[in-house]
Amino acid sequence: MATVKLVNVNKVYDGGVHAVHDFSIDIRDKEFIVFVGPSGCGKSTTLRMIAGLEEISYGELYIDDKLMNSAAPKDRDIAMVFQSYALYPQMTVYNNMAYALKLRKVPKEEIDARVRSAAEILKLTPYLDRKPRALSGGQRQRVALGRSIVRRPKVFLMDEPLSNLDAKLRVAMRSEIVRIHREVGATTIYVTHDQIEAMTMASRIVVMKDGFIQQIGEPDYIYRYPANMFVAGFIGTPAMNFLHGTLSRGYFLPDDSSDRIKLTAKQKELLRNYEGKRLVYGIRPENLIYEQSSRYEKFSDQSFSVRRGIVEKLGDIINVHCSLGDREIIIKMNSKYEVGDLETIRVAADSEYARFFNESTTAAITPEHNEYEEVAETPDLEGDHVDIIEPQKTGFIAKLGEKLKGLKKK
Ligand code: ADP
Repeated sequence: MATVKLVNVNKVYDGGVHAVHDFSIDIRDKEFIVFVGPSGCGKSTTLRMIAGLEEISYGELYIDDKLMNSAAPKDRDIAMVFQSYALYPQMTVYNNMAYALKLRKVPKEEIDARVRSAAEILKLTPYLDRKPRALSGGQRQRVALGRSIVRRPKVFLMDEPLSNLDAKLRVAMRSEIVRIHREVGATTIYVTHDQIEAMTMASRIVVMKDGFIQQIGEPDYIYRYPANMFVAGFIGTPAMNFLHGTLSRGYFLPDDSSDRIKLTAKQKELLRNYEGKRLVYGIRPENLIYEQSSRYEKFSDQSFSVRRGIVEKLGDIINVHCSLGDREIIIKMNSKYEVGDLETIRVAADSEYARFFNESTTAAITPEHNEYEEVAETPDLEGDHVDIIEPQKTGFIAKLGEKLKGLKKK
């Protein structure tokens, strides 16, 4: 059992680089947390501070409620798996896994039991007598994981462990690591720049940029309710489309377009203070409905025309790259549709999935019109009242709001 808690953790490197700002999170026992963000955003620095490989400039780190800022790495009961998994080439798989335990003078029978149990979990039993050079890349990576697992640490830290593997193996190892995590059941913190890894593996994602946390939440929640335009653009491929424009009398008027996108009653309520103001209308490529679709009619008063560019065929779906003014708009559609040689394409936005952002702050506009603050708890998404919600005020408070509204009606 292990919880990890960071309270306003900061890192200022000797040269003055402030790499991590006020990083706070409560990691629960057995969670699989993924830190994701572009290169240089402070993911590894944060992980290394948790491991004790990098000093915490200020702020606090607790493991199982014990302050760990000045504990030596070996006293933190943590195992770290790196992208380069230097195995001992002259040792067998068995001995590679057993080595750290031998150094710690763990009794022989205990070592044997632990190595064999880890080998089972990792599906390495048939390879225990092999040397690393006789293994595939994925198997070697599993041996590296095995070396950590046999130590039974409280917390696993993984820094881009899959980035040296080829694309196919990476995909296979993604689900392997998730399976292994389930079986071992240890709290895990995993760093990657790959949002697909984050989406597929995490129980909760921490999105970072420039040393700051942008949002913390479950993958589906972050996908659906990104806290700002950075998160909206970073999570999901192709990225969310952004239409810049103004709000006028119940319509969103996109720049460089003669179309008017009608707002739903809910959206009007949400945007009641934004009349005449600049806004960004965010809609994911899969939530744009092509004119030929039977669903188009339902959303036709939220439709607009775009100029067609190249068509990317991915088998079952196609991504149609279009433009509105000088902004790219991508439509993801079923490959049964023909876009032929049309110059313009008409699409409707499924209003259920539209998100609005403040153009100057880039923050998502939420029912209370507040600026985004860190999401402390991931709310449940049950009930349709959470259509457009402010991340930190969902769940209990959103439900309370609904209840109060209901009472007023009565
Ligand atoms: P990420 O893991 O997200 O790619 P890092 O944590 O490695 O990012 O780096 C965050 C920032 O800190 C970057 O600007 C990087 O250049 C800087 N940085 C990393 N290590 C050091 C160091 N030892 N000394 C000074 N600056 C560093």
